[in-house]
Amino acid sequence: MSIDPAAELPFFYGSISRSDAEQHLKLAGMADGLFLLRQCLRSLGGYVLSIVWNLEFHHYTIEKQLNGTYCITGGKPHCGPAELCEFYSKDPDGLVCTLKKPCLRPPDTPIRAGLFDSLRDNMLREYVKQTWNLEGEAMEQAIISQAPQLEKLIATTAHEKMPWYHGKITRMEGERRLYSGAQPDGKFLVRDREETGTFALSMIYGKTVYHYQILQDKSGKYSMPEGAKFDTIWQLVECLKMKNDGLVTTLREACVNGKVAEKTPNLPTTRRPGQNGYTPPPRVIGAAIKAASAVPADRDVLPMDCPEFNPYHNPNEVRKFNIQRNQLLIDEVELGSGNFGCVKKGVLKTDSGQKDVAIKVLKSDNEKLVKEEMMREAEIMHQLSNPFIVRMLGLCNAEHLMLVMEMASAGPLNKFLSTHKDTVGVETIVNLMHQVSVGMKYLEEKNFVHRDLAARNVLLVNQQFAKISDFGLSKALGADDNYYKARTAGKWPLKWYAPECINYHKFSSKSDVWSYGVTMWEAFSYGGKPYKKMKGPEVMRFIETGSRMDCPAVCPERMYAVMKECWTYEHEQRPDFKKVEESMRSYHCSISNKAKPEGAAATAAEPIK
Ligand code: AMP
Repeated sequence: MSIDPAAELPFFYGSISRSDAEQHLKLAGMADGLFLLRQCLRSLGGYVLSIVWNLEFHHYTIEKQLNGTYCITGGKPHCGPAELCEFYSKDPDGLVCTLKKPCLRPPDTPIRAGLFDSLRDNMLREYVKQTWNLEGEAMEQAIISQAPQLEKLIATTAHEKMPWYHGKITRMEGERRLYSGAQPDGKFLVRDREETGTFALSMIYGKTVYHYQILQDKSGKYSMPEGAKFDTIWQLVECLKMKNDGLVTTLREACVNGKVAEKTPNLPTTRRPGQNGYTPPPRVIGAAIKAASAVPADRDVLPMDCPEFNPYHNPNEVRKFNIQRNQLLIDEVELGSGNFGCVKKGVLKTDSGQKDVAIKVLKSDNEKLVKEEMMREAEIMHQLSNPFIVRMLGLCNAEHLMLVMEMASAGPLNKFLSTHKDTVGVETIVNLMHQVSVGMKYLEEKNFVHRDLAARNVLLVNQQFAKISDFGLSKALGADDNYYKARTAGKWPLKWYAPECINYHKFSSKSDVWSYGVTMWEAFSYGGKPYKKMKGPEVMRFIETGSRMDCPAVCPERMYAVMKECWTYEHEQRPDFKKVEESMRSYHCSISNKAKPEGAAATAAEPIK
């Protein structure tokens, strides 16, 4: 389910009517400045702010703009509904008064789902299922992590596969299709208007066909001449089924386009599945990026476009723990190094083809301790399978002990960001850090603690796809335990550690949350070094006195607020990853631009018959 960016606001009621809003305000006492927020049906993605002043109700529409900001007509833009309400609580800026007292949603009143919420959610699911051939957990993960991007894709292309969409046909041909067969009132189709790049709606009423031009404003929103504006054609159509908005009657039965109906899939596909599901592109060294070549040029590569998202989709490809030496080609190229030895690039040959891999090679097989460490890491990784966690493919015991992992060819997050400052925007960082929170939520659910979460251990498959790596310090907690107690302190990354780790050697998902906050700080500082030149003990004193790192220069306030929550001193009060992921998702959704591509033409508001 996609989360409404206002969902976490206690004065947000969802899709309630104006009169319901007034009823809630009445029950709450009608004080001046009493307010609530509700979903707006007229402007999709928008809201209505309902305020009491002088015992009267005032309702203000908040529109979602093309660039993803929110504003009341004539007012200043804000990055989310929360920021907007906060602003108006300090400055009336044209409203009847400042927002003084939130009219809180009673605990037994859930947020009311909007008309399009379930439609959009179902459509999103169908889209993911058909486009990437994902199901079950993999589908859920794709939707959770990429909802804003997916909604945007659907918004711009979904109508193309609707049964009522007939593409580029003439007005005459539209009439011919409507007159063929039964001619009930409200039978309709949508067509591309010749040469204009705009759409027309044709419908039957009293055995006569009427044609209406669908208008599109500068920001790309669609409407009928006297009606509400919508982000997508299909939402406009859905609304016209309920309300005629100036048409001779409401839309009823779709005049089915035979061509669309023939194709069972109801939605556009960007990649064709093979006979047994998705056919992966050929895998050779460097294929991670090449896999994206099936993606249309006008959009970013999504994690699901990469074979690394769901590598075990083919049920015949069982994960093998033991890899034979002759299945491996090891490149001389070193990807990095650590205590145990180095990580090399390579290729794994499997029944279904070749796959780029990263191979952790143990430097000295004589060192029992290091070998045990690597085996423990393998044991942990073997139990994990999530798109946002580097997967282990197996172990190979040959000239050295080797741990074979899927490849994340764009390397560590901190290095990537420090070398791509000019091209990577804040929205990308929010997207990547949200993915990390999805991966960490999975670890939390499985009762694993990572103990070394840091930007250096978040590896990128590409600019849009992050994976958590390095499970060298990780522990699986017992079913009844919620923390791991280290007997002795080791070579620990103190700057990333929560106070209870340092003071009591206690590690839990909550202490991983603290590290997540530091990782966020690194990310929003484009790979900056946390706590500057301070040494570990100085950092401890700094934290104990209640100080925390400052907000990085380009970091949005809401992201800094999440960081600070992650740095709550007492672990009992610190949020868990379930909560952190929700906050990241909600912010990610609120800043993502769901509008259409630039250049959509504005047209005159005039019906064509
Ligand atoms: P580690 O000791 O696991 O942190 O690995 C050391 C370095 O090797 C990392 O910082 C990365 O640069 C590189 N590396 C490790 N695992 C992978 C992987 N799966 N894909 C690409 N590079 C990796």
